[in-house]
Amino acid sequence: MSGDFHYKVLDVRHSSRYKAMRSAVYFPIFGDGWIRKWGVGGTAVRLTGLWRKRVLELRNAGWHPFESRIDRQYARNCPPFGVIATTTARACGRAMVCPLCYARRYVLKSFLHLEEVLFGGTHPLAKPREDLRLVEFVARQRVCLNERSAWEPGAIFRDWCPWVNGYIYLHRRREVDILKPQYGVVLHRIFVDENHGHGWLARSGLLLVHRQTPASWVEEVLAHAIPEFRISCTRHKGTPTKRLLREATGRAFAYPVSMLRADPAYTVAVLRGFHRTHMLATYGPQLKCAFEKEDQMGRRTRPFVPEEPEVPPDVREALGVVEDIKYTVEKVDEHVREEREDFFGSVVKKAKAIGATIEKTNRVTAGQREALDNMLEGVRKWVHDDEEDD
Ligand SMILES: [Zn+2]
Repeated sequence: MSGDFHYKVLDVRHSSRYKAMRSAVYFPIFGDGWIRKWGVGGTAVRLTGLWRKRVLELRNAGWHPFESRIDRQYARNCPPFGVIATTTARACGRAMVCPLCYARRYVLKSFLHLEEVLFGGTHPLAKPREDLRLVEFVARQRVCLNERSAWEPGAIFRDWCPWVNGYIYLHRRREVDILKPQYGVVLHRIFVDENHGHGWLARSGLLLVHRQTPASWVEEVLAHAIPEFRISCTRHKGTPTKRLLREATGRAFAYPVSMLRADPAYTVAVLRGFHRTHMLATYGPQLKCAFEKEDQMGRRTRPFVPEEPEVPPDVREALGVVEDIKYTVEKVDEHVREEREDFFGSVVKKAKAIGATIEKTNRVTAGQREALDNMLEGVRKWVHDDEEDD
């Protein structure tokens, strides 16, 4: 029994943000004709298939987060985006590699924030601000890997991360101080090309600058400050339309397809090396888009609700443990669960009650967290790790 959810697509979401996600992720993976060949629903299902295969490849290459069967199953059931499906599940959250979470965490977030600043919200007929112009850029730095050992995780972490973080800081300062963008989203991606023995670090972004900011400044700041990077940069003329924003998002934040296709060992090395690096940076006013949270969960969206309270990370984590407990219990063999109905029933009931309190108070005590962790450990013992991978 594999435990894979069968996602049947009921409907396709047509808002610009979903189109932006599709163009950023589907295009690099499936090429130009994907919509003609399989349609939106069919492509979503295909992508889930590719991702499931990749989960096993990464596990076989020794990637630690996919060691346990439960975690792998979570990842394999990561829900599709931009469609309404019969089943829903929690997103796996491995956004650096999972193309579904990549779309949700990086593309959706970027698009929503830019849309919020430029159009004041998600309304399809909202007019854009006329005082802003869109700057789109992609900068690439080739990293030679003459020896495979260059991808040794320790080396990546030691040599690359401080370098990447240094660059992030440097670029940001210059962009903020000189260009004074109203809003900026910058994403770092890593492409692996094992056949040619090198990799690419790409730094790409979209900036909303004042319309009087001269194009020459933009180029100067983005291109000449860092000669190591090969940059292509466009300052779009005229008031940005939603279509332009959507297409530019798709180009600037395209999914690094080698994460799905490159030699798994290289990919694992990249994932290990960069796991503490912030790949996405935004600057400008602090924004809160309610859609974002909802979409991360793969659920239906609600209208923009600016006054929604912030959920602290420890609360989110604790609620995640509650979900893990419920999920784990569902995975216990049916006859075992029936035999020990009292035990499993009371664990789930207790976990739900603690979860409800945490949700209501929006805080979590050390005792509550410990109780949840113990419960999870307790139920995990009942799940066998003997899946047949296919
Ligand atoms: Zn995922």
